[in-house]
Amino acid sequence: MRGVSVLGATGSIGRSTLNVVRRHPDRFRVAALTARRSARELDELALELDPDFVVLSEEPADFTPRWRGEWRIGEAALLEAAAAPGAAIVVNGLVGIAGLEPTLAALRAGRRLALANKESLVAGGELVLGALASGSGELLPVDSEHSAIHQCLAGRSPAEVRRIVLTASGGPFRTLPAGDLVEVGREDALAHPTWSMGAKITVDSATLANKALEVIEAHHLFGLPYERIDVVVHPGSIVHSMVEFRDGSVLAQLGEPTMEVPILYALAHPERPADETPPFDPVKASPLTFERPRREDFPMLRLGLEAGRAGGTVPAAFNAANEVAVAAFLEERLSFPGIAGVVEGALGRVTPRSLETLEDVWEADGRAREAAREEVEARAVGGRT
Ligand code: NAD
Ligand code: MG
Repeated sequence: MRGVSVLGATGSIGRSTLNVVRRHPDRFRVAALTARRSARELDELALELDPDFVVLSEEPADFTPRWRGEWRIGEAALLEAAAAPGAAIVVNGLVGIAGLEPTLAALRAGRRLALANKESLVAGGELVLGALASGSGELLPVDSEHSAIHQCLAGRSPAEVRRIVLTASGGPFRTLPAGDLVEVGREDALAHPTWSMGAKITVDSATLANKALEVIEAHHLFGLPYERIDVVVHPGSIVHSMVEFRDGSVLAQLGEPTMEVPILYALAHPERPADETPPFDPVKASPLTFERPRREDFPMLRLGLEAGRAGGTVPAAFNAANEVAVAAFLEERLSFPGIAGVVEGALGRVTPRSLETLEDVWEADGRAREAAREEVEARAVGGRT
């Protein structure tokens, strides 16, 4: 029986993780659950799942819990959940840079980190790899593309890999004429064609920023240079990614789009427990089609890849500026093309540095956020542009 600490238990990844845990009570129990401010939902989950403790990272107003166990409040408690004594596995389902310190804490405490929070690897890749190398922690990807690659690689060395190909759904605006992108609103961007996910990653999928973040994530996870990581659009989201080996053989991992498969893989690896997934029907999944990404019309892919190649603190700045821009778009203070405008403007105003410490990340993150906020304000004047 392995204890699982679920960071971001009330989110999309958190809920999917708890479904997996519920189906495998013989293997997993809940050690800790965290949420930012969904106190009532966390209370319900604690009553059902009986964790060792729960964490609310923000002080709740006017709330009396029904669950009589241990409630810990505040951001420091999030780090305690990431290193909880009863947790062999930590699922990081937090969104944004808030996931970085918990990622480091879990690895330093020697836990298996099932990582959905790609932003921590993008912004602090060198630090995360350092924590992984210097301790007894383990890192298993939850992101479906990276889980696919992990499964296809099956422990083979990067030297045997010619390249990896990450698939992208293309998002809700895949076929929309470029001129119409200025008109799309919050609800259009949140209507993802194949995946049901939290708001931030859904917008990232629509701009293709998500795929850029995933290329950087893959670079760190699999130790491959950027020129050996490609992106292809695959609207059906059935092929979750591919590995082309140097002998010319290409392996892909397939399945209906559900995060519960990669989550169970990350929790149970190297075992593959029997699960209730419906049988895969290749005929129903047909035809499998692939397209080149529209790089000109979706500049966030290019901006993110440039940030990855630049390295140092630039990916952290890209991530921070994107977080600010996406939040402004979700608050309807910024147009859809404005997201890339803000990020490009902000990146042009911050000085790249080398990344050695957590302070380097926070400095780059803070400066990029400030520049991005100013870029949002500059564009918000006179309405949405
Ligand atoms: P979500 O918004 O649905 O859930 C986020 C969770 O984190 C919530 O429980 C929320 O309370 C908590 N949280 C948010 N901000 C916090 C903060 N500042 N401090 C503490 N807690 C905070 O997000 P999601 O869609 O589940 O995505 C989580 C992560 O997983 C993201 O990094 C995303 O890119 C990645 N991911 C998600 C999916 C998916 O299917 N949803 C797939 C692949 C990768
Ligand atoms: Mg993904």
